[in-house]
Amino acid sequence: MDNNQYYFDAYFEFIRFADQKISEIEKKHAGSIVCAKGCCECCEDTSVLPIEFFSIVSALKEKGIKPQLGQKSCALLRRSLCQIYELRPLICRTHGLPLAYGEDEDPQMKNISFCGLNFTKKIPKFTKNNVLDMDELNIELVTLNENFKRSFDGDLPERMELKDLVNYL
Ligand code: SF4
Ligand code: SF4
Repeated sequence: MDNNQYYFDAYFEFIRFADQKISEIEKKHAGSIVCAKGCCECCEDTSVLPIEFFSIVSALKEKGIKPQLGQKSCALLRRSLCQIYELRPLICRTHGLPLAYGEDEDPQMKNISFCGLNFTKKIPKFTKNNVLDMDELNIELVTLNENFKRSFDGDLPERMELKDLVNYL
C-alpha cells in the first residue's frame, strides 16, 4: 500500500482544496445549516471511488480501527460519530450544503440539492457564488482516481462499498 502514497498525497491535497471551498460556502449560509457533531442521519451505507476507499483502508490499518458490520448506518459510524472524520470521503464532506450538479454554466439551470434538515426557515436564492459546484470537484476527483487505478496492481471496480472495507484489513 506504501506505493500508493504518491496518489494519496495528491488526493489529500485535493481534499484540502475542497475543504476550503466547502468552508466558504458554509460561511455564506451561516444560520441556515444545522450540521453539527452528533448529527448523523446522512451517514448511510455508501460507496466511494477506489482512491477514497484505499486511503481509508490505509488509515484504518494505521489507527487499528475496525468497521462495524451489521448496522443500518455506515460501517464507520460509531456512537453517532465518524471514526475517520478527518479522512471522510468527499460525499460526506459536502453533505448538507447546497450542491449544484449539471452541465449548465448557469447555477439556476443546474440541479441544486441539500439536506432537508437545513434551510428550514427560508430557502435562499442560489447563485454560482453560494452553491458548491460538485461537477468542478468531481472532475478533479475522478482524474485523481483514474491515475490511482492505472497504478494499481489489479482490476478495480468503478465504486466500492464502505461496508467492504473489512475485507481489506
Ligand atoms: S447533512 Fe443533514 S443529517 Fe447530515 S449532518 Fe447535516 S443536518 Fe445532519
Ligand atoms: S464515512 Fe463517516 S461521515 Fe461518511 S457516512 Fe461514514 S460515518 Fe458518516
